[in-house]
Amino acid sequence: MSISGMALATLIITNGRVLTMDARHPRAEAVALQGDQIMAVGDTASIAALAGPGCRMIDAGGATVLPGFVESHLHLFMAGNELAHLQLLGIEGPEALGAALTAYAAANPDVPVIRGQGCDYAIYGRSLTRHDLDAIVADRPVLLSAADHHTAWANTKALEMAGILRGRDLPTGNEIVMAEDGLAAGELREFNAFEPVLALSGEERISAGIATGEEPNPMPGYADLMRDLEPMERGLKHCAKHGFTSLVNMDGNRYTLLVLSELRRQGRLTARVRVPFHYRPHRTPADLEQASILSAEFNDDWLSSGFVKLFMDGVIDSETAVLVDDYPATPGWKGDALHSDARFKEIAIEADRRGLQIAVHAIGDGAVRRVLDGYEAARKANGKRDSRHRIEHIELISRQDVPRLAELGVVASVQPVHAPGAMDFPVFPTMDKIARDRWVDAYLCRDLAEAGAKLAFASDWPVADVNPLRGIQAAMTRPTYEGARDQRIPLLDVLAAYTTGGAYAEHTEDRKGCLRPGYLGDVVILSDDIESVPVDQIGAMQVAKTICGGRVVWEGE
Ligand SMILES: [Zn+2]
Repeated sequence: MSISGMALATLIITNGRVLTMDARHPRAEAVALQGDQIMAVGDTASIAALAGPGCRMIDAGGATVLPGFVESHLHLFMAGNELAHLQLLGIEGPEALGAALTAYAAANPDVPVIRGQGCDYAIYGRSLTRHDLDAIVADRPVLLSAADHHTAWANTKALEMAGILRGRDLPTGNEIVMAEDGLAAGELREFNAFEPVLALSGEERISAGIATGEEPNPMPGYADLMRDLEPMERGLKHCAKHGFTSLVNMDGNRYTLLVLSELRRQGRLTARVRVPFHYRPHRTPADLEQASILSAEFNDDWLSSGFVKLFMDGVIDSETAVLVDDYPATPGWKGDALHSDARFKEIAIEADRRGLQIAVHAIGDGAVRRVLDGYEAARKANGKRDSRHRIEHIELISRQDVPRLAELGVVASVQPVHAPGAMDFPVFPTMDKIARDRWVDAYLCRDLAEAGAKLAFASDWPVADVNPLRGIQAAMTRPTYEGARDQRIPLLDVLAAYTTGGAYAEHTEDRKGCLRPGYLGDVVILSDDIESVPVDQIGAMQVAKTICGGRVVWEGE
């Protein structure tokens, strides 16, 4: 046992199976907190003796106690907002969709656009058309989004009201799919294609962080700001319930941080949140000055920025991910990158020169390579530094690029729950979009770790369920694709990717990610002992308590 300071503990957890994630003292029974920090970690008797007057005593009842989870890639504002939409995950076929959509429409008579989330790309055994949706709801606009948020399907009313029934010119990588009758088919690929429908929903302030990264225009007044606290708090509560004490948001603007700041001022902030400067393709490298300003303004353990987020490509399902070779079903098509090779190098060099971390969405092997090339150029230009630039997703990678992650000190921000068949996403049609002889390079996890890449796990919520216990199970039980290597990793490595790995990825491993005296008082108590629960039941476990900064922010029954 080790103790920092002479004052007494304010919160004590005893009788736990404590996995500290600290290699120096990996296991303990009890944890003492003093104010917002970890005070001591040790056995139940000696830790209990540290209790001061009014100290809260929590008996973990033999359950696992861990450092608070770090969710390394999510979209908090959007996801909190979407909790109020129709949830379509698991709904298949006309009958089930019809029943769900009709009931939701009746229960929500006043929403400007009827919105659904988590729509399967092959919900009818094929992609939806506007006519399919018209047959269910024709008199009100409907927009259903795929779980990955890269494709949406609209009914005729929505297409008409948004002025895109006859199509529209869009930036590269975006598409309003047109039918043989010369009108929009209903399928809208990538953000700029469905943005006109979203604009009807009155949720544009919430989507500004992902849509443009620009500030909402007009700048919201006090009443709008107050209204926006609700979806943000709904998202925070959902994350607290699942044991997250640190959240790395992957879209945003200064307004996102203002909403979070107001929640903090009101004592309603239940997790530490990082928000990037979102660099969309319409920007120029000179705009990175704004990222530096944002990072200087928000720079403490609760709210911070310090990084730049970009998209290099789209997703495999809609063939907008950038591949090295052609898509097997579409000869001649490899996807279009959102930044040219030369431009991305320019951006990477400038962001790196400013000491900013870079996080790039790169799903296809062609996109991953371009990002690595940019990071390499930044290292050549600025010299080697502890930059910890990140690549988000890495769903397909060329074998020769795997060792480059460790060589360049790049963090692999991967989502084991996205691997088809691992959790909620079916193996097909996604895997059919990838050539059979490349399945060996798809959705890697163990291979990346063995090549020395640092792993940070996440859900990309609302793309997938944020629940880390389901994520842990998925990472430990995911299928092995034909001809590929087993990519499962053991429990403690999975837990590390949700704790120490997440902290490393945000340069906070000196105060976060493990239970060690002097570290931030972020702790999660599970409902059971995760090491003795059968692996296929880990996802059904609950979080009993979440403690962030020494304050209990979630308690189950
Ligand atoms: Zn994302």
